[in-house]
Amino acid sequence: MAWICYNCGTKNKNKDTQCTKCGGVLAAAPKFYPHWMIGGAVVFFALITLGIYLGGALGGATYTSTSGLGTVLGLGLSLILVILGGYILGFASYGRTILESGIGFAVAVVPAIVVSRMFSSATRQEIWIVVAWAVLGLLLSCAGAWMGETIQDRADRKA
Ligand SMILES: [Zn+2]
Repeated sequence: MAWICYNCGTKNKNKDTQCTKCGGVLAAAPKFYPHWMIGGAVVFFALITLGIYLGGALGGATYTSTSGLGTVLGLGLSLILVILGGYILGFASYGRTILESGIGFAVAVVPAIVVSRMFSSATRQEIWIVVAWAVLGLLLSCAGAWMGETIQDRADRKA
């Protein structure tokens, strides 16, 4: 993980245990960044809605007709986008973004379902399907963020 100095705001690399500018120590740097959580919520909201909408459209689901294919494509595609979103967040952000990513997803999932219910059959399913999908999405958003962090870490060490 890259980290931001609590004292002077310098962005430091993972391998540095002290701030390269002022000597502030890594141990005192914040572990949690709320704005990445908010950014994550926005990103996940957009990705979930997009995935459900596109999948539903591909499968021929409309507001008036329910399509099994549209449901599977919509829920599946949104999960793939969630992994990707988590990965990008993990890679782009400093700190250990797995927690921010997970909370961001949890914040985004309910409004995303509410919005997508308006135009796709994918989330107008039995409640247990939607709940199982949301739990899976939460895990995948964290898994994606973890992968992003790991790759960031490696790039950091090489630099
Ligand atoms: Zn500093």
